[in-house]
Amino acid sequence: MRMILLGAPGAGKGTQAKLICEKYKIPHLSTGDIFRMNISTKTPLGVEAKKYIDKGQLVPDALTIQVVKDRLIEADCKNGFLLDGFPRTVFQAEELSKFLESINTELDVVLLIDVPKEFIIERNIGRRICSSCGVSYHVKFHPPKELGTCDFCGGRLIQRNDDNEETVKERLNVYTNQTHPLIDYYKTNHSLSIVDGRDTILSVSKNIFTVLDS
Ligand code: ADP
Ligand code: ADP
Ligand code: ZN
Repeated sequence: MRMILLGAPGAGKGTQAKLICEKYKIPHLSTGDIFRMNISTKTPLGVEAKKYIDKGQLVPDALTIQVVKDRLIEADCKNGFLLDGFPRTVFQAEELSKFLESINTELDVVLLIDVPKEFIIERNIGRRICSSCGVSYHVKFHPPKELGTCDFCGGRLIQRNDDNEETVKERLNVYTNQTHPLIDYYKTNHSLSIVDGRDTILSVSKNIFTVLDS
């Protein structure tokens, strides 16, 4: 299965991506995770990306598209992948489509996790991520078993630099202006499945699996 997960910042893409990838045995390609990994190891890509991410802005298309192409040609993506957080602009979507065509493949599913704006601030401000494996928790909606510690790997939980109210508001503006147009783009150029993201994590994943298994 080759799929894209769309949704506003904090909609639950990363959380659901983990569950989907486990079930369908496909790699989870998160541009945000790739950038954060590069930021923490201070690679040239990380240093460049950080300038934009800390302000809540998008990393330039050219850089982001190259990162994704480099990842998609790796062997583990041959039989499927899940893209989380990419594409985020219509230009990225067009470039992805051209690239997939050039390697004789196409997308199976484009799925939107739909969450209204009112949910976004609380979802992002309360998010904590594992500094080792990147998994998301939430102080209220999805707390770890032991405070400050990752259930899976024992890593330390931290708050993302860009999960403060000011930057979240900017990310939401960027989403509305640059990413939301992808909904119409995929309605026109593909088909778009939509799942209500306001439910609990488990209900959302049940609904996603119903869509994917149908
Ligand atoms: P995204 O990858 O779309 O930015 P995440 O998966 O990181 O979103 O989720 C954002 C925050 O909201 C995290 O703290 C996560 O634990 C929490 N969360 C995810 N899905 C739900 C849900 N259905 N209900 C409540 N909280 C959720
Ligand atoms: P979220 O969905 O919670 O906003 P991500 O982890 O997907 O967060 O992305 C974090 C940041 O990384 C974004 O705010 C943006 O600066 C950058 N980023 C991630 N994916 C892309 C992309 N496809 N194009 C440009 N910038 C991106
Ligand atoms: Zn962990």
